[in-house]
Amino acid sequence: MVRVRFVVRGQVQGVGFRPFVFRLAKGFGLTGYVKNHYEGVEIVVEGEGEAVEDFACALSTKYPPMARIIGIEREEIVGKDVFEGFTIERSEIGERHEVLISPDIATCTDCLKELFDPGDRRFLFPFINCTNCGPRFTITRSIPYDRGVTSMACFEMCGECREEYEDPLDRRFHAQPNCCHLCGPEVWLQDRKGRVIDRGVKAIEYAASYLSQGKILAIKGLGGFHISCCADSEEVIALLRRLKMRPSKPLAIMAACIEDLRGLVSFSDEEKGHLEGHIRPIVLLKRAPSSPLPSNIAPDTDEIGVMLPYTPLHHVLFYFLKKYLPPHRLPLLIMTSGNRASEPICIGNREAVERLEGLVSFFLLHNRDILIRCDDSVVRVKKGRLFFYRRARGFVPSPISLSKRFPCVLAVGAELKNTICLIKGAHAFVSQYIGDLKNLNTYEYFQETIQHYQKILKVSPRAICADMHPDYLSTRFAMEQGKEVIRVQHHHAHILATMADRGIEAPVIGLALDGVGLGTDGTVWGGEVLFVEKDLSFKRLAHLYPVRMPGGDVASVEIWRMALSYLLEIGGDVDKFIHEVQPRRGDVILEMVRKGVNSPITTSCGRLFDAVSSLLGIKRVVTYEGEGAVALEHIQDRGVDSSYPMGICAQSGGYVMDSREIVAAVVEDIGKGEKPSVISRRFHLGLAASLAQTAYLISRDVGIKKVVGGGGVFQNMALVEALEREMTKRGMELVLPSHLSPNDESISLGQAYLGVHRLG
Ligand code: ZN
Ligand code: ZN
Ligand code: FE
Repeated sequence: MVRVRFVVRGQVQGVGFRPFVFRLAKGFGLTGYVKNHYEGVEIVVEGEGEAVEDFACALSTKYPPMARIIGIEREEIVGKDVFEGFTIERSEIGERHEVLISPDIATCTDCLKELFDPGDRRFLFPFINCTNCGPRFTITRSIPYDRGVTSMACFEMCGECREEYEDPLDRRFHAQPNCCHLCGPEVWLQDRKGRVIDRGVKAIEYAASYLSQGKILAIKGLGGFHISCCADSEEVIALLRRLKMRPSKPLAIMAACIEDLRGLVSFSDEEKGHLEGHIRPIVLLKRAPSSPLPSNIAPDTDEIGVMLPYTPLHHVLFYFLKKYLPPHRLPLLIMTSGNRASEPICIGNREAVERLEGLVSFFLLHNRDILIRCDDSVVRVKKGRLFFYRRARGFVPSPISLSKRFPCVLAVGAELKNTICLIKGAHAFVSQYIGDLKNLNTYEYFQETIQHYQKILKVSPRAICADMHPDYLSTRFAMEQGKEVIRVQHHHAHILATMADRGIEAPVIGLALDGVGLGTDGTVWGGEVLFVEKDLSFKRLAHLYPVRMPGGDVASVEIWRMALSYLLEIGGDVDKFIHEVQPRRGDVILEMVRKGVNSPITTSCGRLFDAVSSLLGIKRVVTYEGEGAVALEHIQDRGVDSSYPMGICAQSGGYVMDSREIVAAVVEDIGKGEKPSVISRRFHLGLAASLAQTAYLISRDVGIKKVVGGGGVFQNMALVEALEREMTKRGMELVLPSHLSPNDESISLGQAYLGVHRLG
């Protein structure tokens, strides 16, 4: 007989871990106990040596799908008292709580079966859940994760629910949000005037019927509201776009199931796996040839963001939608985040009714509070890799593991696409996507998120890390906290973020291809090769050719200004261009660039894409960041394999990549009447070749073959693929983040990574 104690660390509470251990131990005929404890789950088993070994093996391989094990400690113990059977003991709650809160999880298949079983007591109950699924992060106020600290605290369980909750063999044993029609939250449908149309299942049925009639609804979800309408109607979508003041940014759609997507979009088995998995992010998929989907869902690309239902409410909504739609119509819904342009997603009922009033006809509300905002995540899946476009629901608050334990720091991120990051022990907790801090509501959301994460992690940072840009609201916030502030250059942070994400040690060559960020020389960077030294400091070894950015930040919106700036640099026909674009005050702006007034110098790669997009007449003014580049990427003819030259000039201690040369080639081909699809392709390939060659020259000098990439431009898959080919050709490897987006959502991680190393 042996007796062994295990401590399992990681995301092991609230995910059905103890019932799993209970059943496992019973199955192997072992005695002992299992309990939650501050480090994770503690297990003591006693039995035959072989049975204990089998148990240990199953423990590390057969754990529940939502659990995430970071480590299992094991020790043989001696003891005298004999256990009577195997038991689940009361939780031990301590100050040093290290257990991770699980992200929100999509409805599991067991719950789905019950949801649509007319004989089940939770038939069509929109809040059904169990230990394997349901809300977690978005309903939890603090740790340890227990019903009392969730927004389910105000709902008292009925007798039957309590029995399930207390039965170790039940799927709902200690499922904190457990509830039913009798004791759980309630949904209702109301109109703009606040009149309640109906409550309960009937409310969802009415909502479906209104959607089928072409109405736009606000629907309370898991991490916030969605604005929804039928996705098969071009007119309704056009109306929604007008009301939301979102002319061209792609909208996401939701389908009831994978079968309903056939013929609309194409997907691989791998993509199907992510669509149907337990996280259910928005997955970017290629529109199928002759897909009947209206083109105004995503006017600038041939890709559509698609997701499948992830809450029981969604499932019930589709159940009724199919009942109300005639067979020739597609059971598909637009599901875009419930906010007005650049505001954060709404979570409160009153907030939604106030802010979305003029936008929707009806509100499908419920009384289970959302405690923290969390947008839908957006990913692309390619050859076993996940590329993040927005990391939020389903992925947070899962941490990124670091190589060792560090002191706690808070990093406050960038300004657009802000996230925050907290380091606790050997984990980096990067928050969900927060958004553009210049919006006052979003800035409040930023502060909320910092508070919330400090509460759910029970930490207090020793120092705060912020961008070098003095006017970022995040930087200003950091300066006001009365703590030590560590300032990190934006692109340095981009590279450090990828290093932290992928566990890569310095020294490395960093390739930052980005929109804009303040450089150490006071100019605006964004197309840089950095060398990160062993002590994590950096040197700038190469950059794109510096050009003027007429009007500063305005040039990121009126992207024709970048075209003008490049045209001036290459001695192109500016007058003809201005005549074509017909901008307001075109001549004034031309004067401004010529004299260098209010026109900061930039090496931004994002702005180079803007210039080319604008020269080709694809986009001249954009409504969201990256719009010019997205459209430029999309139109390229992938059959073309010729490229434009972009020379590399050696300069004191480094190189300048002459982006003027590639723009001149673009302009020349435009003059020859070459097709934009061909020009775009040649531009992508030429840029990639020159960037890879520059990295190669540096790699020869420093003897490092890995190139670490970071920055928003890496969301351009055509460029990434071309870069990877060019790097491989030169015996080098491009490394990109795999847990985070390469865009500014990753800045907070990079900042924190430098911060903890500086603190030592
Ligand atoms: Zn379930
Ligand atoms: Zn109940
Ligand atoms: Fe950036």
